Amino acid sequence: MATSQTTLHGSGVGRGAVVGPVARAHPAPALHTEAPPPDDVAAAVAEVTEAFAQVARTLEKRAEEAGGTIADVLGATAMMAADPELVGQVRSRIEGGQAAVPAVDRSVAEFADLFTAAGGYLAERVTDLRSVRDRVVARLLGLPEPGVPALARPSVVVADDLSPADTAALELDKVLGIVIEQGGPTGHTAIIAGQLGIPCVVRVVGASALEDGTEVAVDAAAGTVVVDPDDELRGRVETRREALATLAGRTDPGTTADGHAVALLANIGTAEDAERLTDAAVEGVGLFRTEVLYLGRTSAPTEDEQAEVYARALGALGGRKVVVRTLDAGADKPLAFVTRSGEENPALGVRGFRLVRTDEELLRTQLRAIARAAERTGGDPWVMAPMIASVEEAEQFATLARAEGVRTVGVMVEVPAAALRARDLLAVVDFVSLGTNDLAQYTMATDRLLGELVDLLDPWQPAVLDLVAATAEAGLDVGKPVGVCGESAADPAMALVLTGLGVTSLSMSPAAVPGVRFALSRHSLERCREIAAAARSARTAVDARRACLGLVDAQVREVLALG
Ligand code: PEP
Ligand code: MG
Repeated sequence: MATSQTTLHGSGVGRGAVVGPVARAHPAPALHTEAPPPDDVAAAVAEVTEAFAQVARTLEKRAEEAGGTIADVLGATAMMAADPELVGQVRSRIEGGQAAVPAVDRSVAEFADLFTAAGGYLAERVTDLRSVRDRVVARLLGLPEPGVPALARPSVVVADDLSPADTAALELDKVLGIVIEQGGPTGHTAIIAGQLGIPCVVRVVGASALEDGTEVAVDAAAGTVVVDPDDELRGRVETRREALATLAGRTDPGTTADGHAVALLANIGTAEDAERLTDAAVEGVGLFRTEVLYLGRTSAPTEDEQAEVYARALGALGGRKVVVRTLDAGADKPLAFVTRSGEENPALGVRGFRLVRTDEELLRTQLRAIARAAERTGGDPWVMAPMIASVEEAEQFATLARAEGVRTVGVMVEVPAAALRARDLLAVVDFVSLGTNDLAQYTMATDRLLGELVDLLDPWQPAVLDLVAATAEAGLDVGKPVGVCGESAADPAMALVLTGLGVTSLSMSPAAVPGVRFALSRHSLERCREIAAAARSARTAVDARRACLGLVDAQVREVLALG
């Protein structure tokens, strides 16, 4: 085996692997921060105003062409370009004697600082803001649009960072993979790449040194980029690519090798996401994150607007199961009109269901809209509340939801208190769904957005597994469904553990379903129970995963690159 290959490391998105030549994105224009003041202030103001307007229009047009989550992402960036406060600030700077480019640069920097300080969702949107800056500056300087150039052949796109607009403009038939030096696993590029099923590795140290045309092997499952891969590695990647393509063609429902059913469901955020599932091989939606509907707005969407969106989603899914989650605002998902400012620990504050304390009507409106959509489409959505910590909260939610016409009511189990008392919660609701992202955050006292603590945030942590097991056991005892809709459901090895623990459905990004389906189909329920027991008897997260993998079928390990 050759040893001269350089391997770069990052965070992978998805399980795919691919080999191809590098195509570098056009760099952002240089920012002439020392430029002299404009001779004609009025003309400079007019020019910059027009540049912002043109950028907004171009992005809006692309959003219309794109549809789905990509359209939302582009729409959000277009809104930033059209933001009167941002444009107003740039204008005032020019009127105060600054040249146009530094005025744009400094205004954007100020907004970016505000976004960063706000944290969570807004902090991740700083990339969009900079993309607006670069596009506006390129226009002012008469330079080509920054971003990915037209691709002459199928390539691996390499960039310092890709704005959502860059990602959305990619010629998908020619993009083999994406490698990003910056960004994060929950950033826009990662979300979009995951949605499109493109192998992607983000936070790759050293990616900016990769030159155009260099061959690289991108392995999202391993989170690696190998420079100039040898024939052996190329062969392995190709075999895996073919095997994954075959798995992606399967449409059978989720079952273990001996026929025990575990529903495989999709996580979505918009009606367009639901429409994209019309022909997808998923048994329904296990998590509809409705907060996407409220993002980027200054007031809540009306009952009519919401009913329209929910009806579209239910209609697209036909008679399939749909679990709608009520608004989960706050902490990592701040919303301008509901999130309280000034809380020292927003993740522990008035977020999720707790908003009912100050604004019950916000929740009632949403519940009514869901019930109306159900009536209109003949669907039967299951509806659950996020961030439930006590049985009183579960009871309060169930009462409100039923009063507004919801038939099947559940709560998320994403706070340790809820997991420990899952039996009590299940006595007052019809089902629960484990949100392992937040459950890990609250069990391990670790901010889910803090990359440097990912080892603590690991869903394989024994304490997190114990809480998942306690919840699943309560479900088995009372005979009510316990699903998992956190990221851990997308890990095929963890999916086996969850099945062995008694979880009844797994909800994940649609691109992750084929791998999980394959893993389940190669293990009996009894084997899943053994795997779960082995994982639970480990003392550390690393040992738990290792103990699980030791019992996983060799072909599953190889094809899905589970390590
Ligand atoms: C979770 O916390 O695991 C979850 C599914 O919800 P979200 O990621 O939207 O907080
Ligand atoms: Mg959550």
